Amino acid sequence: MAKGIGASSGIAMGKAFVIPTWEWDFPDKLIDVTDLAFEFERLYDGIRSSKDEIETIKQEFVSVLGEEQTSIFDAHLAILEDPIFMNEVQGIMQKQYKAAEVAVKEAIEKFVNMFDLLDDQYMKERALDIKDVGNRLLKHLLGALEETLPPKDQPYLVVAKELSPSQMVHLDTNLALGLVTMLGGKTSHVAIMARAMGVPYVLGLEGKLSTPIQTGDYLIIDGDEGCVYINPSDELVEEYKKRKAILQVRKDKLQTLAHVPSQTADGLSFQLAANISSVKELDQVLKNGASGVGLFRTEFLYMDRDSLPQEEEQFVVYKQVAEKLEGRRVVIRTLDIGGDKSLDYIELPEEDNPSLGYRAIRISLDRTDLFKTQLRAILRASHYGNIKILYPMISSLEELNKANEVLEEAKRELQQEGVPFKQNIEIGIMIEVPAAVIIADILAPHVDFFSIGTNDLVQYILAVDRMNETVAHLYDPFHPAVLRMLKTTVEAAQASGVHVSVCGEMAGDIRALPIWLGLGIQELSMSVQSILPVKNSLLQTSHSEGKVIWKQLLSCKNSKSILEVLNSNLRQDVVAN
Ligand code: PEP
Ligand code: MG
Repeated sequence: MAKGIGASSGIAMGKAFVIPTWEWDFPDKLIDVTDLAFEFERLYDGIRSSKDEIETIKQEFVSVLGEEQTSIFDAHLAILEDPIFMNEVQGIMQKQYKAAEVAVKEAIEKFVNMFDLLDDQYMKERALDIKDVGNRLLKHLLGALEETLPPKDQPYLVVAKELSPSQMVHLDTNLALGLVTMLGGKTSHVAIMARAMGVPYVLGLEGKLSTPIQTGDYLIIDGDEGCVYINPSDELVEEYKKRKAILQVRKDKLQTLAHVPSQTADGLSFQLAANISSVKELDQVLKNGASGVGLFRTEFLYMDRDSLPQEEEQFVVYKQVAEKLEGRRVVIRTLDIGGDKSLDYIELPEEDNPSLGYRAIRISLDRTDLFKTQLRAILRASHYGNIKILYPMISSLEELNKANEVLEEAKRELQQEGVPFKQNIEIGIMIEVPAAVIIADILAPHVDFFSIGTNDLVQYILAVDRMNETVAHLYDPFHPAVLRMLKTTVEAAQASGVHVSVCGEMAGDIRALPIWLGLGIQELSMSVQSILPVKNSLLQTSHSEGKVIWKQLLSCKNSKSILEVLNSNLRQDVVAN
C-alpha cells in the first residue's frame, strides 16, 4: 500500500494505464549506418510537421493579435531553418550514428546550456525558444501524443507523474475511473477538476513507491484515505467492493435532497451554487439542485485547442450557460490563466514562481485586446440571463479600475453596434490575495460583490504553494490567520453592503459550515459533487449554534484546536428526504 494525499473522494478499482512522462527520457538509441538515410527522412518529416504546426498557430494569432505580436513564431520557424542548429543535429547523427530524436535532444541541450550561461536576458530568452521548438520537434519525432493515448474500449485508472489541466480536459470519465499522480496539490486545478468529475484521485506518491506502477497493474484507489493498493489480495478487493456499494447507497440517499430547499435547521436560507469549467457540467449542476453557477472558470474554454477562442464562440458558450440556468445567478470569471494553467499557443514566460507571476488579471490587463474580446462576449450573453462578471486576482484599486475601463470600452462598442447587453451588469472581484483582504474596505465601494477564493488566498496567506506536495501538510485552510482574513473581508463587505460568497474549495468542506454561519455568509459555490453533502449538513446545523461555534473558533490559537471544535460539531449522517 502506498499512502499519498486523497484529493478526490471515492473508490476506484481496475487496471492502471501509465501516462509516459513528458521529460523525454528515451534511451540513447544508436542506428545502423544503413538506416541513416531513413533516419534523415524522419528528421525532415518531423521538421516539416513542426513548421506546419507553427504556421497554423501563427495564422490564428495574426487574426487575433495582429502581425507584431506573432514575431515569436517567426523566431521559432527560423530556428528550424537555422544552419548552425541543423548542422549540429545532422553532425551527431552522421558521426555518432544516433537516432534523430537523440541528436535533436543533445543539440537542444548544447545550445540551451550555451545561451543560458550568457549574462544576457535576450540570449536567455533565445534559449527558451530553442527549448520550445526542440520540444515541438521531439513531439513529432516520437509521436508522443499518440503514444500517450489510453485504451478506447475498456476502463482504466490513470497513473502519471503529473497531470495538467489540459490533459484532464481530454479524459473520458466513462473510461478513466480514477487518478494517481506522483506530484500535485489538493487544490491544484487538476484536483478540482477530478472532484468536479467525481473521479477518485490520490496524489503525492513521489518517493513513496518501492517499484513504479506499471500499465496493467491492478489498483485500488481510495480517495478518502489517500491510499493506493497495487496488485492487492482478493480479500482486499472483495472488501473494497463492499465499501464501494455502501458509498453508492449514501450517494443515492443524498440525491433525494437535490430539490429540498437549502437552509439551516432554524430556517436561514442559503445559496449553494456550483463551480464549473465547461458547459458539459451543466446537467450535473441542475441534477444536484444548485442555486446557480457561482464560478465559471472560463480559462478551460481556452485550453485543449490550438488558438484563442473568438468572441462569437465564447458568446455562444456563455449564452448557453445563462439560458440553461433559466434566470439563476451565473458568475463568469474572466480568464485566469498562468500559475498551474497554461495555454500551448500563448507564450507565457518561464517563471521561478508562477503563482506570484504573470497570471490572471495581470495578463488580461497586459493583453487588453484578448480581455476585451472576452468581455464583449460576456456582455452580449448577459442579455440572455442573469450573468455577473468576476475579475480574478485583484490586488489593488488600480487593477480594478483598469479592468472596468476595458469593460466600459467594450460596452461603448456594443452600444454603437446596436448589440443588446445588460447595461448595469454586476461586477465582482475575487478576494484571493492578502492585499485585497487588507484593502477590502477600499475595494468594496467599487464592486457589487466579493467572491472569496480560499484556494489561492490560503496559498498566499501561508506562503504555501498549492501545487507543491512537499509542503502540502502546511496548506491549512483552518489556520487562524485564514479565519482572521475571512473576518476582515466580510466585515469590510458588510460595511459597504456588498454581497459576499465563497468559491474556493473550502466552501465545499462541511467542517467549515459554522464559519460561514458565524460570519453571516449565505452563498457558497463549490464542486458540483459537494453540493448535496453540504446541503445535508446545513439542514442539520442551526444558525444560532453556528454563531456560538464561531465565537469559540475566534479564541482558538491554532488550527488543531479550530478543527477539534469543528469536528466535534460535525453533522454528516444522511437525512434522506
Ligand atoms: C480560488 O483561488 O479559491 C479559486 C476559486 O480560484 P482557482 O481555484 O480557479 O484559482
Ligand atoms: Mg484562484
